[in-house]
Amino acid sequence: MIVEKYGGTSVADVDKIKAIAKHVADIKKRGHDIVVVASAMGKTTNALIQLAKEVGYANNDREMDSLLSTGEQQTVTLLAMAIEALGVPAISLTGYQAGFITSNHHAHARIKDIDLTNLKQQLDQGKVVVVAGFQGATENGEITTLGRGGSDTTAVALAAKLGWNCYIYTDVDGVYTTDPRIYPQAKRLEEITYNEMMQMASLGSGVLETRCVEIASKYNIQLYLGRALKTDLSKGTFIMETKHLEDMPITGISVKEDYAIMRVLNIENDGIYLGNLFQLIADLNINIDTISQQISKDNKINFTFYCNEKQSDLILQNYKEEEFGYKIERILGFVKLSVVGVGISTHSGIASKTLNTLTKNGIKYYQITSSEISISLTIEKKDKEKAVQVLAQAFDL
Ligand code: ADP
Ligand code: ASP
Ligand code: MG
Repeated sequence: MIVEKYGGTSVADVDKIKAIAKHVADIKKRGHDIVVVASAMGKTTNALIQLAKEVGYANNDREMDSLLSTGEQQTVTLLAMAIEALGVPAISLTGYQAGFITSNHHAHARIKDIDLTNLKQQLDQGKVVVVAGFQGATENGEITTLGRGGSDTTAVALAAKLGWNCYIYTDVDGVYTTDPRIYPQAKRLEEITYNEMMQMASLGSGVLETRCVEIASKYNIQLYLGRALKTDLSKGTFIMETKHLEDMPITGISVKEDYAIMRVLNIENDGIYLGNLFQLIADLNINIDTISQQISKDNKINFTFYCNEKQSDLILQNYKEEEFGYKIERILGFVKLSVVGVGISTHSGIASKTLNTLTKNGIKYYQITSSEISISLTIEKKDKEKAVQVLAQAFDL
């Protein structure tokens, strides 16, 4: 009993869809129950966003959700047809039809629950069920999407609800020490802990969506990531509670590219301004990170936080300088680079090695932050490739 998920590149054209249909039909013929989750074909989601921009109204999140959900709907219907064509009964379900009930936060809805009644009926009738990733509906039947990359979350949430294992198939062999597109010599990890994967994902490693790892960890779902149609499980990565292999101090390097630094200087230290600012951010339902405040010599506050560019637009659109009393500055052109590993808490010298390696190679860093299993630095965008390369070499990644 398995849930398999195929990402956009893996279902990019008819030949790929047919190849996956064949693989799925074979699994079914061998007597297994299988649910398949699929993303939109290739770059369809981006193409739909572009169309909406051309119409001139891409900031209507409700309509955007309806539009974007059609991308996944195309894939699952084609895949179900291709499976049926091989003589194996199959049915496609949209997120709504599959029972995904979500919050009403359009464009970044959260799954509240999954009503499996329909899906289970289809399975009982011996069908392969093909579910559209990335989407659901509110209790009122409004179509929602789960945020970019959300099909991973669809798959893992289904696996959790069904109590099945989850296999995520994509266009790389597994989770690598760092994005192989930035550093082709990166090594594949056979295993990684939920905790490390969650950090790497939230710090920018887009190979898995952060929430899917969170759900897998919470419900202890066996999660596997590998290349589509490469079914030898020793060639991918298992994401699990604890690793069987010895811990290296550093597991990987992540880079967050869509990054805006927001800064307010010389605030009166009375708590009023920040209270109002945080209220605005909460009302806009924005997640910010790396909040930091310093007190200057004259007892004034300098305050910074980070968010993605779209969110920074939203903040700037709603921030009224004359009401708030201070100027908010946005700084672009930086990326956040993080070294991640459970070994950080147990090995000394990681920070010094990280900083010295960058300095030796003429790379400037700005803000430094850390957690128990990660150290993050803000660097200039132009230094991204080189920084990843020299750090990967220094830590033998
Ligand atoms: P899918 O459409 O299948 O969900 P994604 O594009 O979302 O695929 O994720 C796969 C991509 O993630 C890879 O092509 C790779 O460039 C990128 N990636 C980023 N960080 C990593 C990493 N640490 N290991 C492997 N791939 C990574
Ligand atoms: N198609 C959506 C996206 O491009 C969801 C996904 O691929 O997981 O973000
Ligand atoms: Mg993805």
